[in-house]
Amino acid sequence: MGKPTGFMERQRLAEAYEPVETRLKHYREFVATLNDEQTRVQGSRCMDCGVPFCTNGCPVNNIIPDWNDLVYRGNWEQALSVLHSTNNFPDFTGRICPAPCEAACTLNINNESVGIKSIEHAIVDKGWQMGWIVPQPSKTKTGKKVAIIGSGPAGLAAAQQLARVGHDVTVFEKNARPGGLLGYGIPDFKLDKSLIERRVKQMEAEGVVFRTKVVVGCKVLPTCVVNDATEFVSAEQVNNDFDAVVLAAGSEVPRDLMIPGRELKGVYAALEFLIPQNKFVSGGKANPINAKGKHVVVIGGGDTGSDCVGTSYRHGAASVTQFELMPQPPEEEDRPLTWPYWPLKMRTSSSHLEGNTQRRFAIATKAFSGEKGALKSLTTVELDWKDGKMSEIAGSEKTFPADLVFLAMGFLSPVGGLLDAFGVEKDARGNAKATTDGAGCYVTSADKVFAAGDTRRGQSLVVWAIREGRQCAREVDAFLMGTSTLPR
Ligand SMILES: Cc1cc2nc3c(=O)[nH]c(=O)nc-3n(C[C@H](O)[C@H](O)[C@H](O)COP(=O)(O)OP(=O)(O)OC[C@H]3O[C@@H](n4cnc5c(N)ncnc54)[C@H](O)[C@@H]3O)c2cc1C
Ligand code: SF4
Repeated sequence: MGKPTGFMERQRLAEAYEPVETRLKHYREFVATLNDEQTRVQGSRCMDCGVPFCTNGCPVNNIIPDWNDLVYRGNWEQALSVLHSTNNFPDFTGRICPAPCEAACTLNINNESVGIKSIEHAIVDKGWQMGWIVPQPSKTKTGKKVAIIGSGPAGLAAAQQLARVGHDVTVFEKNARPGGLLGYGIPDFKLDKSLIERRVKQMEAEGVVFRTKVVVGCKVLPTCVVNDATEFVSAEQVNNDFDAVVLAAGSEVPRDLMIPGRELKGVYAALEFLIPQNKFVSGGKANPINAKGKHVVVIGGGDTGSDCVGTSYRHGAASVTQFELMPQPPEEEDRPLTWPYWPLKMRTSSSHLEGNTQRRFAIATKAFSGEKGALKSLTTVELDWKDGKMSEIAGSEKTFPADLVFLAMGFLSPVGGLLDAFGVEKDARGNAKATTDGAGCYVTSADKVFAAGDTRRGQSLVVWAIREGRQCAREVDAFLMGTSTLPR
C-alpha cells in the first residue's frame, strides 16, 4: 500500500461527463479519463486490506490492490502489465463493466469505494498512448488448429490466449466486423468502435485469422438475429479442418412479448433499433427506425433498455418512458446485509439522466393498440409483488401514448441450430451444456467442441465473457497439448 492514510485524506473522484446538452448532439464517448495525478490520488485510497474482496468480486480476478499501489508510485507500465495478466481487454471493461469489484471494496462498507474502474480505464488508455500495448506473437508454433465461432469478448479472449501459446487460431464471424455485441449492440457513446479495431489489429499481428461474413453451422437464422454472412461453412467442415472448436456465439434470441398488437409497426426488439444505429454511426446507411419527435416506451430495465433510452434521446424523442416488471428497489443498499456482494438498489444510468426519463416499476404491458397498422398507445396494469410472486392489481389499467416500443427483456439462448449442427447437448435454458470447474470443464457433449461466454452461461456481462474465454482457452490448450501454462 503506497499511502496508509490515503483513504482517510482523499475522497473518491468520479470521472467527468461531457454536459448533456452537447453530448446529445453526437454518438461519441463522453466520459473523460482521470489525469495522471487524479489517478495517483485515487490509487492512494486503496487500503490493500489483506483479503482483497475486490479481486474476488471481479469476475476476471483483477489484482486490483497491486495496480492501485503501482499507479500511486508512478509505475504505470508495470500496473498495465499486472492488469493485462488477468484481463485481455481492460479497455472494454474500464468503460462498460458495472464494476462488481467496487461493491466488494472494503471501503464500501462505510465510505465510498475506491474508483477501481476509473483507475483501470486510466491505466489502459495510458498504455495505448505510450505505445506499451504491442502484439505478443508466440515464438513457437504447435501446429494445432483451433476454430472459434463468434468474435464477441468471449471469442476474442479465447483467441488471443490460444494464439499466444502458439496455436493457429481462426475466428469465424457471421457479421461484417469482429466484436460481437461490443461492436453491434453497445452504442458508440459507451464504447468507441476504434477500440475494438485496434485490438483486432493486435490479434492479427499475433497470428489470429478473422473470417468475417461467414456463418457456421446453420444457414437459416431467426429474422430477429443480425446476419451479414455471404458464406456458409458447415459444422462437419469445421470439425474436419480443426483440432478443436470453441463455440462463443453469444445468446442472440431475444425474449418476445406476445400480447395483442405485437404485430403493429412500431414494436421492435431492442437490437432491431441499436444494431442499425451502430452501423450508421460506423458509416452505414441511416437507421430505418427514427425516434425523432416520437413517444418511446422501453420495456425492460437492464443495460439494453438503458442503451435504447440514450439512443432515443440522441434521435430527439418527444418522451421516453421505461417499464420494469420488478418493484422499485431502494435508493441505497443495506450495506451490512449485502457487502461484499452485488447489492439490490436503484441504478440510474447516464442515459436515464439525458432527459426526463419516466421510470415505472411493478408494471406489466397487456396490449399494444394502433391505427392503420401503426402503434399509437399501449395498455398496462400495475403489479403487486408478495413473497416473490406477482399479481395484477384490479382496476389499475392505464394507457400510455407510444409511437415506438423497444422490447429489452433479455435474451433467451444462442441460436439453437448452431448447437444442433455440432451435436451439442443443451441445458434447460437452451444454452450449450458445459461446466466451468473441475475435469472436463468448458467441454460440451460433442467431441473436441468447447463453449464459452453467453453461449454457455446465458446472457451476461462482457467481463464474464472475457473470463470464460480465458478459462476455456486453458482447457483447449490442455486438451491439445496434455498440459497448459495458460492461467485460469
Ligand atoms: C444492447 C446491449 C448492451 C449491453 N451493455 C453491456 C454493458 O454495458 N456492460 C456489460 O458488461 N455487458 C453488456 N451487455 C452484455 C454483453 O454485451 C454480452 O454479455 C457479451 O457481449 C457476451 O459476449 P459473447 O462473446 O459471449 O457473445 P457476443 O458478444 O454476443 O458475440 C457472439 C458473436 O458470435 C457471432 N455468431 C453467432 N452465431 C454465429 C454463427 N453461427 N457463425 C458465425 N458467427 C456467429 C455473433 O454474430 C456475435 O458476433 C450488453 C448487451 C446488449 C445486447
Ligand atoms: S473488470 Fe469490472 S469488476 Fe473487474 S476490476 Fe474492472 S471494473 Fe472491476
